[in-house]
Amino acid sequence: MPLSVNPATQALVEKYDEHTAEEVEAVLTAAAAAQRAWRATPVERRLPLLSAIARGLRADEDRFARLITREMGKPLAEARAEIEKSAWTLDHYAEHAERYLAPRPVASAASESTVVFEPLGVLLAVMPWNYPFWQFFRFLAPALAAGNGAVLKHASNVPACALLLEEIVREAGAPAGLCTSLLVEPGAVAALIADDRIAGVTVTGSTQVGAIVAGQAGTHLKKHVLELGGSDPFVVLADADLDEASTVAVRSRFNTCGQSCVNAKRLIVDERVADTFVDLVVRKAGALVVGDPLDEATEIGPLARGDLRDTLHDQVRRTVEAGGVLRLGGRPVEGPGFYYPPTVIDHVSPDMAAFTEETFGPVAGVSRVRGAQEAVELANRTAFGLGAALWTADLDEARRLVPLIDAGAVFVNGQVASDPRLPFGGVKKSGYGRELGEYGIKEFVNVKTVWIG
Ligand code: NAP
Repeated sequence: MPLSVNPATQALVEKYDEHTAEEVEAVLTAAAAAQRAWRATPVERRLPLLSAIARGLRADEDRFARLITREMGKPLAEARAEIEKSAWTLDHYAEHAERYLAPRPVASAASESTVVFEPLGVLLAVMPWNYPFWQFFRFLAPALAAGNGAVLKHASNVPACALLLEEIVREAGAPAGLCTSLLVEPGAVAALIADDRIAGVTVTGSTQVGAIVAGQAGTHLKKHVLELGGSDPFVVLADADLDEASTVAVRSRFNTCGQSCVNAKRLIVDERVADTFVDLVVRKAGALVVGDPLDEATEIGPLARGDLRDTLHDQVRRTVEAGGVLRLGGRPVEGPGFYYPPTVIDHVSPDMAAFTEETFGPVAGVSRVRGAQEAVELANRTAFGLGAALWTADLDEARRLVPLIDAGAVFVNGQVASDPRLPFGGVKKSGYGRELGEYGIKEFVNVKTVWIG
């Protein structure tokens, strides 16, 4: 049963009933009918809906942000930023989707040959709780612009957000049934994927769930996109600006209480500057304000669920037992709420848990290396390949190293972050396919060739 629990207090706020089999059936039937009408609507007449959703988000930003904070625990300022980024992405596609989807004439033996981009149908979105609004709108904006419909299966710990998302889209003027949120257990996803009324599926979540859903989508030959886990390296070479790099490393590791797929989870530092860099990181991470996420001053709220904190602490314990040197934090905060303090572990070697596993919480592991070659080798010694950051004053060296790094994005002297203008996604066990930008909107379209003799 989906439960809304406040992670800052552990208080149960509300229980929700799951949708029944009959309700699911009705949702799918309505979605298929609504999408058929929507695909016949010219793209320029679909886009005002995106702008209207963006306006609705901004108009009630504070209420939405407070719900995000209450349901999954991120500090209020971060929740507000999530709403704004969602609106920005909707605006981006409202402005650019027509150009992204414009027919492309291609010279051939035909008197006229053109590539056109048509919708696939109703898409199933399986979404995580860490950015309950953003992850959904990042998928929905291009999906609607391209003429698709949407059925959302959100994470079970954010049911109030899940229902509110449907309401926001409906109140912005979406045709009835075009975008619906289903409260169902994970086991119900297989039948949804198998259903003929679902044309494709996108998953943002763990690598384990991505593999399960990909198998089901493969069995039924449904197009799918996988946005999965990450263990991003943050490489600091000896000539980097250490003050700036340490500030960004702390921001990049500890935002969303360390529960972002593109947090800088592994700090890989040239040994010549490692002592200075680690001291800076420990000082700046130690200064982060831990507390009630509804308090404007708070920078680190609770983790989203108790089991997530248990898993994280077990990873810390195993890493320290294996020889990692704890420099900050390292044990759960006592009292109510799923709090875990900013934690820094130095001398993490590539066989330790903080290096081999994704740590989804406020834990930075530091690994020391001899020079750029070993740094890149360690950056790549992971099952994941989402983002990577590289810090150096030598941009020629950076350009030489970028192609050697196995990741969906490399940010030089900056923080890895998604941006609606740029494609986002991973390689290796971080998944495949892309969201955002022109590449994102092209994932769920029928790239149709029209040949006229
Ligand atoms: P999760 O446990 O994989 O859950 C994600 C979604 O999958 C939830 O809606 C979940 O539903 C559902 N699910 C669970 N088991 C399923 C099954 N057997 N079949 C179908 N669906 C199933 O991930 P999470 O804990 O919510 O999110 C954290 C993970 O997401 C991290 O690994 C993070 O790196 C990754 N992530 C990746 C990106 C990216 O863009 N690459 C972005 C954000 C997060 P229930 O909640 O009901 O179990």
